[in-house]
Amino acid sequence: MALFTKAVKGTQDVLPANSYKNRFLENTLLDIASNFGFKEIRTPVFEHTELFARGVGDTTDVVQKEMYTFLDKGGRSITLRPEGTAGAARAFLEHGLFNEPLPQKVCYITSCYRYEKPQSGRYREFHQFGVEVFGTPSPAADAELISLANEIFAFLGIDDLTLEINSIGCPKCRAEYHKALKAYFESYKEELCGTCLDRLERNPMRILDCKSPICSKIAAEAPVVLDYLCDECKEHFEKVKSYLDALNIEYKINPKIVRGLDYYTKTVFEFVSSNEKTAGLVCGGGGRYDGLIEELGGQHTPSLGFAMGLERLLSVIEAQGIELPGEQKCDIYIASIGDKASLKAAGICTDLRAEGVGAQFDIAGRSVKAQMKYADKIGAKFTCVIGDDDIEKGEVAIKNMENGEKTVLALDTFTDDFSSMWVQSAANALADSLSNEDFASLDINNLMGGLK
Ligand code: AMP
Repeated sequence: MALFTKAVKGTQDVLPANSYKNRFLENTLLDIASNFGFKEIRTPVFEHTELFARGVGDTTDVVQKEMYTFLDKGGRSITLRPEGTAGAARAFLEHGLFNEPLPQKVCYITSCYRYEKPQSGRYREFHQFGVEVFGTPSPAADAELISLANEIFAFLGIDDLTLEINSIGCPKCRAEYHKALKAYFESYKEELCGTCLDRLERNPMRILDCKSPICSKIAAEAPVVLDYLCDECKEHFEKVKSYLDALNIEYKINPKIVRGLDYYTKTVFEFVSSNEKTAGLVCGGGGRYDGLIEELGGQHTPSLGFAMGLERLLSVIEAQGIELPGEQKCDIYIASIGDKASLKAAGICTDLRAEGVGAQFDIAGRSVKAQMKYADKIGAKFTCVIGDDDIEKGEVAIKNMENGEKTVLALDTFTDDFSSMWVQSAANALADSLSNEDFASLDINNLMGGLK
């Protein structure tokens, strides 16, 4: 087939056979965040470029190399969001959310755009679930964020992620650290890439996350920020750790984590996969950004947040062999023979759907044989065939496609009778699923949603 065009490099289609996984994941993430008091925020897919240049930092890889930036028809420089925090922080300021009770807790699911080299787990359009807490300096908030991420992984049954934490200090201790980094990288001046040479003068810490193989090799031996923390930052980090200990959250201290965005201060963390199929993949990360709101023109508002890549989360889920529930199946397919029966099938489907039952009938004018073939392909749980004589008799036999059992239902009371059967079969499935401890909680939620 000679296609006129294809999807843009680094973008992905989520096809109908898989989209239920994204839907389940998104609902789950927002539901768990809601239990922690987070409310959803939706911000535009594009912003003025200066928001990211200022917020994310104009010496970061994201801003210098990866942004989708263009001039709109009015000559304004516009950028597709490369991450979610800057937009949420702008909205927090623009709409005066700082006047609401603090801390303000917001969460979102957004698409993000980065012009990176596409590879497994790295796309040019990807999706993030993010949470932001505006207006608290307390280390309890840092631990609370991590515990939210932990809860999400536990709920989904993901157990091969390692939490790595670090502290990258505040502007005060960062000044000392920058001096040490500068001295270290000065001796490799000949080998650093052009971008990093510029960073050496303006922001040597950003050399640490340069993706060029030579720069990253040099960076591997650079001084670590943990050795330069001031007393306040040290104390904050100790307190975060004691909250994590109290919550029985396991972590590893990784002094090399600096995160690739300029706004971070103090605590930073990442969730790294240890599954052999996705080893080293960073599924999520975040930290504190006490200076960002001020940087964007607001009052000093200590804040923090994290983001998880949904595509990465799904690949870790798949690598661990976790089946997500929620695949949409047809509850009943009503086949029909002839025009009168087709009208009857359409009416019954309408009534069943009003009761929350997934019902379909033939909308392609096919033979009954072809209709049944289709019902089988779409995985209909029950089927029936209505013909003129069934309408005359006022009843029809429905077939349970799993065990072949047939039940005759009166056409007059079809919707009520089938709905009760359907609830009963969902309850049976619930009872069966309870024997599988790992998935009990997932199936309960899914089925309870269906039973409502
Ligand atoms: P960051 O904003 O860079 O901290 O990224 C937060 C999360 O988004 C990461 O931990 C990844 O899970 C995900 N992520 C970042 N960049 C990409 C990308 N290019 N493709 C897919 N996921 C990404």
